Amino acid sequence: MERKIVLSLFYMGIVTAIVGILITTVSYYSFFRKEVRENLAHECHLVAQCYDRGDPITELDRFTGEDFRITLIEKDGTVVFESAADPQDMSNHLDRPEIKSAIENGTGTDTRFSDTIGTEDYYYALRLDDGNILRVSIQADSIFSLFERSLVIILIIIIGIIIVSLIASMKMTDKLVSPLKQIPDLLKTNKSVSDTDIYPEIIPLVVEIRNVRNAQSEMRQEFTANVSHELKTPLTSIAGYAEVIENGMAKGEDCIKFAGKIRSESARMLTLISDIIRLSELDSVESDTLSDDIDLIEIAEECREQLIHTAEQRGIHITLSGEAERIQGNRTEIHELIYNLVDNAIKYNRDNGNIEIKASGKTLAVVDTGIGIPQESIPRIFERFYRADKSRSRAKGGTGLGLSIVRHIAEHHGAEISVDSTENVGTAISVIFK
Ligand code: ADP
Repeated sequence: MERKIVLSLFYMGIVTAIVGILITTVSYYSFFRKEVRENLAHECHLVAQCYDRGDPITELDRFTGEDFRITLIEKDGTVVFESAADPQDMSNHLDRPEIKSAIENGTGTDTRFSDTIGTEDYYYALRLDDGNILRVSIQADSIFSLFERSLVIILIIIIGIIIVSLIASMKMTDKLVSPLKQIPDLLKTNKSVSDTDIYPEIIPLVVEIRNVRNAQSEMRQEFTANVSHELKTPLTSIAGYAEVIENGMAKGEDCIKFAGKIRSESARMLTLISDIIRLSELDSVESDTLSDDIDLIEIAEECREQLIHTAEQRGIHITLSGEAERIQGNRTEIHELIYNLVDNAIKYNRDNGNIEIKASGKTLAVVDTGIGIPQESIPRIFERFYRADKSRSRAKGGTGLGLSIVRHIAEHHGAEISVDSTENVGTAISVIFK
């Protein structure tokens, strides 16, 4: 960025300088032209006064050798006098613009390049009382030779400007960028923004980044504390049962019972660990692609088949109805989403209850006849480790992470989730895909 600013300021300086030089030269040149023309007219009128005084040719001849040329032309265009050449050698001048104009209007001017483009001839013609035309002309530098003559000075000025622009642009950029360079330091420490000279416009951004960072760090700490706590509970049980067996305090049947407890607590830990791993996978930037063409009904049917055995053990009936439009997404993730919803609908259902998986367009709803969720808990059920009914969740092997995974997957697919629940009546969770 710094390099870009330096270059932009530098180019700006150079362009401004060159445009400045061009404008100055052109205005100087037009001022110079105006001066030459005015002087020429003045000279011509002076010569005309002398012309009237005596023999025209003798009078005009007195001006031979001056900087300017004098020509006398008759009405028909014949040159009768020329101070810098023999009039005999000169062609008819009737076609010259300044002569034409003088015949018609009394005066005429013209400027023409000489043989080279380095000089220009300025002409001023005046119709005299006797009808003849008096013309005065002078040769002067053209704009090109003006340029050529000042080339060395122009080049020196340009080089000077390049050096000055470069130094100035580097200094200005340094001044512009130095408040921005303090941002990383400010973000690292909790230093007050008022103690620095960063731009006031950037302060809200720094404050926002700090807030987000603090919130993230709090979330991380909370998550770590929750994970440790969740792992500690089954591990304490496992250690306890193992100790009893080790001390020989459990005999026969008890031994088998305790081994069973150790196995189920280990299974709980494994489920918890795999949920945590899954969440961190979903958190990672490189999440799975959404390139599968998905039939929601087909996946819902798969989930139903996988969970029907668990449901039937409690007399719970699962039905599938409706028609769904195909959606674009990640098949594995959608399977996980529906599986978690149906799994919850079984866990939190009453015995012999019902579960309906309903599809309509791009919406899929899982409706159960279970214990429902208290209204105040509904906004929190998607938080990590949040359980509305702690004892039932634990008893059913819940981790408190299932709905966090559901929310994550829905967000990844740009889908919305809506929850409608009444305690002791049931819960309907709908996922609306785009
Ligand atoms: P868990 O592993 O505890 O089921 P979830 O994240 O899946 O964790 O769900 C969070 C909490 O939301 C659950 O502990 C439960 O209290 C509540 N919950 C989720 N689904 C239902 C449902 N279908 N009926 C009633 N309560 C539910």
